[in-house]
Amino acid sequence: MKKVLIATANKGKANEFKNLFAPLGYEVTTLLDYPEMDDIEETGETFEENAILKAEAASSQFNVLAIADDSGLLIDALNGEPGVYSARYAGKEKNDEENIKKVLRNLQGIPPHKRTGRFHCTLAISIPGKKTFTVTGECEGRITNEKMGEGGFGYDPIFWIEDESRTLAQMTGEEKSAISHRGNALKKLKEILPKIVN
Ligand code: IMP
Repeated sequence: MKKVLIATANKGKANEFKNLFAPLGYEVTTLLDYPEMDDIEETGETFEENAILKAEAASSQFNVLAIADDSGLLIDALNGEPGVYSARYAGKEKNDEENIKKVLRNLQGIPPHKRTGRFHCTLAISIPGKKTFTVTGECEGRITNEKMGEGGFGYDPIFWIEDESRTLAQMTGEEKSAISHRGNALKKLKEILPKIVN
């Protein structure tokens, strides 16, 4: 059976990837299956650099096709912040609650039409002995004044989708995947995958 290692320990992300690869006949593993994997430091300054770092480290350590993603939120009124630092915007420890508070504080007084932004996702696909490929996906929206919805993770409760008139946290996982940055990148990956693996 063909094997793919998803270089993430995030269960939500792992499931999104499993849904894509299982029907294609792949055995999907994640870093949750490899507790001995060395920690990969995200030392890059771009989403692309970090995704490539993670995918190549995983594929070379286990000699398999590996996929990694790096993602974040870019807010226009904050000159693209939090960007690649989205996970740790409010401090060294990852803390979604504090990150949201910091964004809302920094956007205080900014009117709705200027609270635009987008989620970005870069996926890197590394195959031992081959050149690493990347694909990207984005999702446009607007930052609300307060949290709305209980679903999703990260900044979802403050990310308003105009066409849906609700935040990403007010959608089901499936609804979010259909329009999200990660979902859009996965669609592109599905298109190019047969060309890369053969
Ligand atoms: P990473 O790609 O796991 O490094 O994620 C970076 C950070 O971006 C996460 O910790 C979240 O704060 C934010 N982020 C990435 N994707 C999403 C999403 O789909 N919804 C909400 N926040 C996200």
